[in-house]
Amino acid sequence: MRIGINGTGVAGPTLAYWLRRSGHEPILFEKAPALRTGGYVIDFWGLGFEIAERMGLVPALLERCYMMERLRMVDADGNEVAGIDVTPMRHRLKGRFISLARADLAAVLFSACHGIPAHFGVSVASVEQDCRGVTATLSNGRQERFDLVVGADGLHSRVRELVFGPEGRFETSLGCHVAAFRLPGYPRRDELAYVSHTVPKRQAARVALRDGETLVLLICRSELIDGDPPRGQEKAALRRAFGDMKWEVPEILDWMDRIDDVYFDRVSQIHLARWSIGRVAVIGDAAACASLLAGEGTGLAMIEAYVLAGELHRAGGHIERALAAFEARLRSFVSAKQKAALRFRSFFAPRTTIALRVRNVAVSALSIPFLANRLIGDSLQDDLVLPDYFAT
Ligand SMILES: Cc1cc2nc3c(=O)[nH]c(=O)nc-3n(C[C@H](O)[C@H](O)[C@H](O)COP(=O)(O)OP(=O)(O)OC[C@H]3O[C@@H](n4cnc5c(N)ncnc54)[C@H](O)[C@@H]3O)c2cc1C
Repeated sequence: MRIGINGTGVAGPTLAYWLRRSGHEPILFEKAPALRTGGYVIDFWGLGFEIAERMGLVPALLERCYMMERLRMVDADGNEVAGIDVTPMRHRLKGRFISLARADLAAVLFSACHGIPAHFGVSVASVEQDCRGVTATLSNGRQERFDLVVGADGLHSRVRELVFGPEGRFETSLGCHVAAFRLPGYPRRDELAYVSHTVPKRQAARVALRDGETLVLLICRSELIDGDPPRGQEKAALRRAFGDMKWEVPEILDWMDRIDDVYFDRVSQIHLARWSIGRVAVIGDAAACASLLAGEGTGLAMIEAYVLAGELHRAGGHIERALAAFEARLRSFVSAKQKAALRFRSFFAPRTTIALRVRNVAVSALSIPFLANRLIGDSLQDDLVLPDYFAT
């Protein structure tokens, strides 16, 4: 089958790889002119990691990753008030817990798609379906005919909008906004640690990266942002929301003014009643974004890609049956992940001083290795067995 995939992030290349493995003809489209670089850093573990293993990509991921050692929560003077050692938890997961730039994960996945046609700077602009296929009109005006079109184009998916309807119908705002950016040369560094300072409704955090870069993450309750700022006004909105915070925040905001590339968005989930209509399906954040609070969006995107390819393989070309099986296998698993993510809102942006204290006490309790292993280790296990669809 000829399958058009819109989006060359995490889900898109994973799907393309496994489709080719079963003899299909995937074609990737990506709005950006080239693979993205830089950007924010993600934690990567669980079944996503297992799929990367099945793709033979773990050595390439290990070359680019960071083995984080500690989460440090600090007060306004930089003194640690709570912390967690990550290393025992990594041992429990047999080393299968790494942190790396989302862009690096996407690049490694894309490297496994060598030979698969990929069109950068081109995206699906409209689709028309009939009982035998889908005609996609591309942003460059060309028309292409596919057996199936898959939207792997992220939280603000264009394919979803074209086929399912406007984003607002499916987006659940989690009441927070997030910003992420890289500061080259920022002088304060703690290697292999996520260092954060939290006050009610806000958290500022930094992670030291290679080549003298520092990743900054700012998360706050949305009432401090007062509506989505117009494009170009994001830094001003962040200054209003974080300007009176102490610790290194004034310095970080000054450094932010020197850079152009600031990721800024609402923290949202996507809830669709179904993940396909006819011969158009969505996967990854486009289908069921769990948000950064889940800490597993990349893994979920890869699981959905792998299972969709696997069910298409199993159904031997029967698209409707494959799409139904794909959804039946994953829906409750993904919904549970979305629900679990909500619990982490108070970790990032507790509402009150009391909630912040409770969070710090809970984090301190996790420095007891037995509790850390039981509580965090268990919540990092994926309650799903991936079929070996492609065993020869
Ligand atoms: C700040 C932050 C921190 C996060 N932390 C973690 C974490 O620790 N662990 C984790 O697993 N996940 C984390 N996530 C979530 C994770 O990044 C996503 O869930 C994951 O990237 C989803 O993969 P995807 O392929 O569905 O979408 P994406 O990775 O967003 O890829 C979508 C691709 O589609 C392209 N695209 C967009 N629109 C179009 C269009 N119209 N036409 C063609 N192409 C298009 C985009 O350029 C992009 O390349 C975090 C997210 C954020 C914002």
